[in-house]
Amino acid sequence: MNFITVLITFVAMEGATWLIHKYIMHGFLWILHRDHHDHSNEGFLKRTITSLSSLHYLPLR
Ligand SMILES: [Zn+2]
Repeated sequence: MNFITVLITFVAMEGATWLIHKYIMHGFLWILHRDHHDHSNEGFLKRTITSLSSLHYLPLR
C-alpha cells in the first residue's frame, strides 16, 4: 500500500508541476520565469540568489 501511495503521489505531483510550468510560468508569470531559460552568463548572479531564497519567483530589482 505504501508503494502505491508513493507512486500515485509522484505521478500526480509530476503532472501538476508540468501543468503549472507550461500554463502558468510560461503564461501570465512569464516575466518572472524568463530568467530560468536564459542560458547566457548575464543574470547568473540574480538567478543564483533567487534560487537560494524562498522567494524563488520574485524578481530582484
Ligand atoms: Zn520554463
